[in-house]
Amino acid sequence: MSLAELARRCSTCTACALSQGRQTVVFGEGLPDAEVMIVGEAPGGDEDASGRPFVGRAGQLLDKILEAAAIPRAELYITNIVKCRPPQNRTPSEQEADTCWQWLEQQIDLIRPQIIVTMGNVPTQRFLHTSEGITKLRGVWREWQGIKVFPMFHPSFLLRNPSRAPGGPKSLTWTDIKELKAAMDQLGPKPEQWRKPRLVQESLFG
Ligand code: SF4
Repeated sequence: MSLAELARRCSTCTACALSQGRQTVVFGEGLPDAEVMIVGEAPGGDEDASGRPFVGRAGQLLDKILEAAAIPRAELYITNIVKCRPPQNRTPSEQEADTCWQWLEQQIDLIRPQIIVTMGNVPTQRFLHTSEGITKLRGVWREWQGIKVFPMFHPSFLLRNPSRAPGGPKSLTWTDIKELKAAMDQLGPKPEQWRKPRLVQESLFG
């Protein structure tokens, strides 16, 4: 199955209650064989309206952060833990994230990134199976199923905490994005066993 076919199937998903309030399923976008995948929390209002991830204020800040580090957004793949907007932009519930995980897992299997950047608490805790907060987890390399995982602050957190003071979230994010860029520059070709999808299977949702 191709990523486009997976997106087509996901576009009509009604597997959890978030389907009831959405305008659009925000599946994700980017290079279908990207080396780096960014996983955020959930679509917000702008994303729900446009069908694209990270296009609102937080997305615009992400673009600035990437640009400052000379990381082209077009070379990444960007998505979220849940593909439909939660009401009032609340945090997705465990059950919603569990239900939507199967879409993300299939995206990862098709894209086979070498690095997954988890932005904020929700994706970081889910990939790393921890209840530790992002403040402790950010900037430290971890691993999930053989893929490097690099947690960072979510740009929406930076919008709420705009101080540029040394040791603050913005300053730490600058450190982290430079670390990510350095790691990207060191990447070799994808391991041979990653060239073919590992898990490609029929979607559980139809
Ligand atoms: S499982 Fe994901 S794609 Fe399906 S309705 Fe829920 S949030 Fe949307």
